[in-house]
Amino acid sequence: MSLAPAPAAGCADAPVLRERGQREVFCGLTGIVWLHRKIQDAFFLVVGSRTCAHLLQSAAGVMIFAEPRFATAIIDERDLAGLADCNAELDRVVTRLLERRPDIKLLFLVGSCPSEVIKLDLSRAAQRLSARFMPEVRVLNYSGSGIETTFTQGEDACLAALVPEMPAEPGAARSLLVVGALAEVVEDQFLRLFAALGVGPVRFLPARRAAELPAVGPGTRFLLAQPFLGDTARALEARGAVRIPAPFPLGVEGTMAWLGAAAQVWGTAHRLAEATAAPAGRARAALARIRESLDGRSIFFFPDSQLEIPLARFLARELGMRLTEVGTPYLHRAHLAEELAMLPGNATLSEGQHVERQLDRCRALRPDLTVCGLGLANPLEAEGLATKWSIELVFTPIQGFDQAADLAGLFARPLARRARLKV
Ligand code: SF4
Repeated sequence: MSLAPAPAAGCADAPVLRERGQREVFCGLTGIVWLHRKIQDAFFLVVGSRTCAHLLQSAAGVMIFAEPRFATAIIDERDLAGLADCNAELDRVVTRLLERRPDIKLLFLVGSCPSEVIKLDLSRAAQRLSARFMPEVRVLNYSGSGIETTFTQGEDACLAALVPEMPAEPGAARSLLVVGALAEVVEDQFLRLFAALGVGPVRFLPARRAAELPAVGPGTRFLLAQPFLGDTARALEARGAVRIPAPFPLGVEGTMAWLGAAAQVWGTAHRLAEATAAPAGRARAALARIRESLDGRSIFFFPDSQLEIPLARFLARELGMRLTEVGTPYLHRAHLAEELAMLPGNATLSEGQHVERQLDRCRALRPDLTVCGLGLANPLEAEGLATKWSIELVFTPIQGFDQAADLAGLFARPLARRARLKV
């Protein structure tokens, strides 16, 4: 399989359709579903309503654990009416939780729409509770509220809350920090590749355990593993770390360029071809098989996960898909500069959402595949359009060479299913 050549202009300067209107997205609480599996001794306590509790239960697939790592402290009518002292209630709930669960080393108080509406100051609550429970338990806070946010921003807010807690790197020794929650299997693959490239030491944010927070300082060079980490990147830069500009590690091309960007900084780019030959070769062979079912098919992205632009680049350049509209909730031009330069110039780029207008455009285009949130998928399927849930792309390990074919398979499957059902 060969890679599509870089388009002459790409989308770096392409006009962007900016829309502001009703949006159909999950809120930032959703991030807890993957973050609680990642930081193994953390607990996420949502300070919210019954709606928030229901969202978490259903997004998490109604997981019944003996010892779950997230819960909701319900703000009830008395709290909303200002009749109860919410801070005293919260302290009581947290104390009970930590007495019962000595395994918790890091507790996040997660704000929600209701806690924001009643202006409950969770950062002061976190400071107060940290002072009481440190050094056994560190208490931090961030907001997962759905007011003006989209679902992947929950991870950004969570990681940004961790940055001030990271120890200072002694001296100016150079190290690589990979930023963004990745499946452990993916982290291990990247560690092997960075070792072969002579890039290191390599650390990850978030770390697997609360006590393993990586150090940061002027010697830190960081690679974003996810495109939705604007606040975290800013917080790291404020601590002296320097971002390595790169596309995101999706597909063979993205992964190669992402690793190559770090190797460039370490002066070992000459090792890239040899270090990546085996996994990249396997990935290309696996993608060639899937390309047959995606080549020439059209795809439309509703703005949801903020992964849309890197995904569109991968699907167009490595699998031959035809981009119609690529919507993203926010377009971070600096973090996406390398992606935009590689994106074929014939797609419509849109930022933000006016859901009715966008549905009209989608219906008019009748793409072979539409990537959207759960709320839009069922109605579009009922209208005869094949859909892919964007949230699945955040839950599934998709980064790196060995996951490239799995990622392509996520897009091929809905089309194969429809072909089998002869829809
Ligand atoms: Fe709904 Fe807001 Fe709670 Fe999210 S945080 S579940 S949008 S009430």
